[in-house]
Amino acid sequence: MNYLSTRGAAPVTLDEALRKGIASDGGLFLPATLPSFDIRDFDSAEDIQAVAGNLLRPFFDGSELADDIEKILAETYSFPVPTTPLPVPGGKLSMLELYHGPTAAFKDVGAAFLAACLSRLEGNAASPLTILVATSGDTGGAVAAAFDKRPGMRVVVLFPDGRVSERQEHQLCCWSDNVLSLKVQGAFDDCQALVKAAMADPRLSSLHRFSSANSINIGRLLPQSTYYADASLRHFRRTGNKPGFIIPTGNLGNGFACVMARAMGLPIGPIILTSNANRTIADYFETNEWLPQSSLQTLASAMDVGDPSNMERLRKFSGDASVLREQMAVTSVSDKQIRLAIKQDFAEFGFATCPHTATASHTWRHLDAAARQQDWIIVATAHPAKFETIVEPLIGESVPLPAVLQDILSRPAVATRIQADLKSLAAALAGN
Ligand SMILES: *Cc1c(COP(=O)(O)O)cnc(C)c1O
Repeated sequence: MNYLSTRGAAPVTLDEALRKGIASDGGLFLPATLPSFDIRDFDSAEDIQAVAGNLLRPFFDGSELADDIEKILAETYSFPVPTTPLPVPGGKLSMLELYHGPTAAFKDVGAAFLAACLSRLEGNAASPLTILVATSGDTGGAVAAAFDKRPGMRVVVLFPDGRVSERQEHQLCCWSDNVLSLKVQGAFDDCQALVKAAMADPRLSSLHRFSSANSINIGRLLPQSTYYADASLRHFRRTGNKPGFIIPTGNLGNGFACVMARAMGLPIGPIILTSNANRTIADYFETNEWLPQSSLQTLASAMDVGDPSNMERLRKFSGDASVLREQMAVTSVSDKQIRLAIKQDFAEFGFATCPHTATASHTWRHLDAAARQQDWIIVATAHPAKFETIVEPLIGESVPLPAVLQDILSRPAVATRIQADLKSLAAALAGN
């Protein structure tokens, strides 16, 4: 299987696409062809790992990693990904729980898969590959957890001092020796600028072999299609109906993975992307004009994206707004509506949802009568205990910590404080 840039550069292999992350012309990688499946192709696939093996095997055609697929998927799915029916009248609603991974959010799936692939391709104990991650909260934890203790790999997390929550900070700083956590005296943008500057610096690059585990890497996108495949197959076998998915959306990676799964023949009905007050995608669907904005801060902070980079993939894959409107819908949900949805979810479902997941439950509650006839699966992208300062005051009680977060919060956390300049970063990288 070859991978093409959305901007036309020459095709590369999977291994090269995984290593490079982004194409030489600045475009994003897409598989050159998409395999097509029949539902019966999955008859003997009993769990998500087996479904994922069938689904992803064609993507590894010609890859050095082809013989390791089973091991890579076993490392990816070290946790369950259940779909739970929700107690609503009519019983046509379930929730896909993507928050049982090591950092209790869906990014664990993509990060674990990418780590399993990259460490096999590039792991080198004498000269470790150094993954640089600038994070405003969630991504850094997922990447650190995924590469933690992997031989020949090192992760350097840069986060802005005082701008992440206490629990988030802990989650960025509690890993083993191959993860260096840097508390930068600056804002998230300073962290991002430092990563760029380090990667562009020839001396530092030759010393440290830098790479990134960016969310646009194809190695984070491909595995995300597997939980849509697994959930839709199980639902279809049980009910004979194709479920629709309602997907909290920021950079559009998770939503695009669902679009790919449906295009490959999985039994998936309608798709609704739900954004927060960042309306770039919603406006595009309405006006046909793609106008990236600077991002607005909302309660669903991991979705605060004003220029969703995966739209470039989606437009190349499907077409422009006039085509996309036929294939999916988009909503935009305000902070006020998110707060209300968290309260309603708690009252109706019997448990709290996180602010991101609440954009999906809000959207489900406001479907018209015809759409309510459809079976729907709300995608829960994070555990509410990660956002307890928002959720707990709304529901008036505390959210029990899941075991994965208890485990993380009980570990010692260590960070190195650095100034927001390249000299301080270079010293920290050298261990001074
Ligand atoms: C990253 C994230 C999202 C948005 O996912 P995209 O793939 O960027 O659209 C939604 N919810 C949570 C909790 C996230 O961490």
